[in-house]
Amino acid sequence: MKITIGHLYPDLLNLYGDRGNIQCLMKRCQWRGIEAETICYEINDEIDFSKLDIILLGGGSDREQMLVCDKLKNIKTSFQTYVEDNGVVIAICGGFQLLGNYYATAEGNIEGLGIIDLDTDRGTDYRLIDNIVLESDLVSMPVVGFENHGGRTNIKNNKPFGKVIYGSGNDGKSGYEGVVYKNVIGTYLHGPLLPKNPEVADYLIQKALERKYGEPVVLKALDDTEEKEANAYIYNRFKGKVSK
Ligand code: GLN
Repeated sequence: MKITIGHLYPDLLNLYGDRGNIQCLMKRCQWRGIEAETICYEINDEIDFSKLDIILLGGGSDREQMLVCDKLKNIKTSFQTYVEDNGVVIAICGGFQLLGNYYATAEGNIEGLGIIDLDTDRGTDYRLIDNIVLESDLVSMPVVGFENHGGRTNIKNNKPFGKVIYGSGNDGKSGYEGVVYKNVIGTYLHGPLLPKNPEVADYLIQKALERKYGEPVVLKALDDTEEKEANAYIYNRFKGKVSK
């Protein structure tokens, strides 16, 4: 078995080591004898979505998002077809915002891909910056990470990635974080997300393999004792505390 990961615009969207997520996906495949390769795309590269099994769209500053926004129009239809065909995507922070309709900044609206019906408005007062802890239906371990965003995202009737145990989440008040749409996870969690939350990495790998090979896949278990202990510790430490 083999997985091909497409990393979209690592030169522009790579805040706080989002690239670490790719290394985690690759390693967890290789440790199980699953071949894994990554193709990095720069902003003017053609993307053949039919080659890809997992796409990572990372986070960026408003300036970088603005640069990417124009180019997204060229790939909108093929990206949307990939998503509707159950293509796996992990979109972090700025990348999560770009999957939606728009992200409003002081300089005007950054138009998104409009693949998921969600809007991101500008937080006029302060950025949402802190550690974050979630409970997610997709996995059994608590999900832990770090968030740093100005945008406040309204996911409307879509399913969230998780319930906020500590932190701000999508908008600081809904109590929810991120979005799950088909095989897409959008989230504000940097950290990077996947090395800290190996069950989320395996969720993506499993969905990608099942889509590619058209049969149920059970991944060989790996030893995640350290991550399990760390996340349980963080969960207990932050549960019941009020975020800044
Ligand atoms: N520029 C966006 C915001 O501040 C996303 C930032 C990020 O990717 N960390 O809301």
